[in-house]
Amino acid sequence: MSISGKTAIVTGSNSGIGLGVARELARAGAAVVLNSFTDREEDHALADGLAREFGIAARYIQADMSKAEECRALVDRAGGCDILVNNAGIQHVAPIPEFPVEKWDAILAINLSSAFHTTAAALPGMRDRGWGRVINIASAHGLTASPYKAAYVAAKHGVVGLTKVTALETAEEPITANAICPGYVLTPLVEAQIPDTMKEYGMGREEVIRNVMLQRQPSKEFATVEQIGGTALYLCSEAAAQVTGTTISIDGGWTAL
Ligand code: NAD
Repeated sequence: MSISGKTAIVTGSNSGIGLGVARELARAGAAVVLNSFTDREEDHALADGLAREFGIAARYIQADMSKAEECRALVDRAGGCDILVNNAGIQHVAPIPEFPVEKWDAILAINLSSAFHTTAAALPGMRDRGWGRVINIASAHGLTASPYKAAYVAAKHGVVGLTKVTALETAEEPITANAICPGYVLTPLVEAQIPDTMKEYGMGREEVIRNVMLQRQPSKEFATVEQIGGTALYLCSEAAAQVTGTTISIDGGWTAL
């Protein structure tokens, strides 16, 4: 089944994985709603660019995913959606005793609670239209843990749990809910960390990538935003109609270790 004529909301999509997923859905003909908490000219220009490039309808809607009412308002202002991609996320790294409470609260709100609020707001419309896809961007950290990432790991495990509940509550309907669990993905944010890490370790680019950044990724290759987008597209296809309540790892073997 084609997704042309469907509308996709992708939260946190003015950069990185969110933008990559929105591009792949737009390429396949979906109307897309981009989102972040900022309201800059370049945010709206991103949507205009997708509309021009792929000949689809695209809009940027500002909404802060740390706030329950703004998560729900995003779905309302978009007029509902057929495909909901919960992608907005932030990270903070610190040992538990020193983990700043405001960072814990922000990570839980943006990485986990926002998906609850947008799903709650989007499901009634999907039911009315008789089709829906909820795609949550979790992480390898939704399935495994690393030290110093308490809030992120807790939130991403929570996203996997929320995905399963969403799937069970929609199991008898033409709606599916799944989580994509990427390992390390080469986004602009990750690319920007390479020069500093090279300095810190006194290593060359390839050595830093292989032995520091991708230490836990057996393939020793980053996943790409296009691969995450292609997997989202698969989850929208008829081939995936019975795929629900599960996780799809795109992590070069990380979770096989
Ligand atoms: P990124 O920083 O490029 O993207 C995060 C997006 O979330 C941005 O568009 C940002 O504007 C948005 N965002 C942040 N706070 C927000 C808020 N309060 N309201 C609305 N939007 C907000 O990072 P990314 O790497 O593309 O990450 C996207 C998702 O993928 C996150 O959920 C992240 O946890 C997950 N992920 C990333 C990797 C990786 O290696 N890059 C791996 C696994 C999972």
